[in-house]
Amino acid sequence: MIVVLTRSSGLTGLQRVIDTVEKHGLSAQTAESGSRKVVTISGYSEASDLLSELTRLESVEKVVPVGLTHKETTALNTSGRHDSGIDGKDSFAVFAGPCSIENEEQMLALAGQLKKAGATAFRGGLFKPRTSPYSFQGLGEAGLKTLERIRHETGLKIITEALGVDHLEQVAETADFIQIGSRNMQNTPLLKEAGKTDKPVMLKRGMAATLDEWLNAAEYVAAEGNSNIILCERGIRTFTDYSRFTLDLSVIPAIRERCGYPVIIDPSHGTGKSSYVASMCRAALAAGADGLMVEVHPHPEESISDPGQAISPAAFKEMMADLRKMAAVLQLSI
Ligand code: PEP
Ligand code: MN
Repeated sequence: MIVVLTRSSGLTGLQRVIDTVEKHGLSAQTAESGSRKVVTISGYSEASDLLSELTRLESVEKVVPVGLTHKETTALNTSGRHDSGIDGKDSFAVFAGPCSIENEEQMLALAGQLKKAGATAFRGGLFKPRTSPYSFQGLGEAGLKTLERIRHETGLKIITEALGVDHLEQVAETADFIQIGSRNMQNTPLLKEAGKTDKPVMLKRGMAATLDEWLNAAEYVAAEGNSNIILCERGIRTFTDYSRFTLDLSVIPAIRERCGYPVIIDPSHGTGKSSYVASMCRAALAAGADGLMVEVHPHPEESISDPGQAISPAAFKEMMADLRKMAAVLQLSI
């Protein structure tokens, strides 16, 4: 592990870092890199609280884990610093809403229904990564005020996608969670910029990404100092011809073996079919996911984007009632 000290940290700041490391029974070696002081530490364990203690020190700019497995890295990254509100311990998160934000009054009415049915956050895209350049590309910036109104009037948290670096700051200001979409999973400039924000980042799996590629993409965000990362499985490309993608639920235990980030399952994009969504949501809960992302539209067949996979508010309500029964058995709250 390498600790980079702030430019203004003096000898006292350096001594504080060394004392903290030694308190854990480890040794610290100091070095200069340009005008910066760095401290290298060896022999730490993933169970240690050292990372969170170091990151709280005023003299520390960042801590860079080196040569660790993803599990070790995220154990360090998440120790004491994960505050996305999704921890998978005793609650199950449900992000619900339309594919794209449309008419404001209709969206507000929908958000009220979703909240009542038990959603924890409202999802809705403004900057849409559409397959065809001739399809609706989203309301863009103009829709940010709708999301703000929804948060204000319903108390729901907001998640929306940042499609590019150019509007990341605006999205980070408005949203409670920044979504990075499947097509952007390996957009490293975007990942790095998201890593500089203080908002939790929900990183969707690339539609042809291996787990290792996905976790390395997450590492781009964490390496910039933001380890509030949520992984979202949204289906991968296979030879199936009955669904749009194949929802890979076996990635849930695989992630558990590799790292500590929470996992959200998106059966809407994962299957592309509204009639498959509820059963895949139940399966995700049973398989140990930390939450769901579900597309819901007041009139699914009229949805400007992804009409085939959105479910109605009534279907959402019914599904939530079923999930609540399952969650009670699993001693989770929804
Ligand atoms: C979305 O969630 O609206 C979306 C476009 O998803 P994905 O990036 O998984 O295709
Ligand atoms: Mn969609």
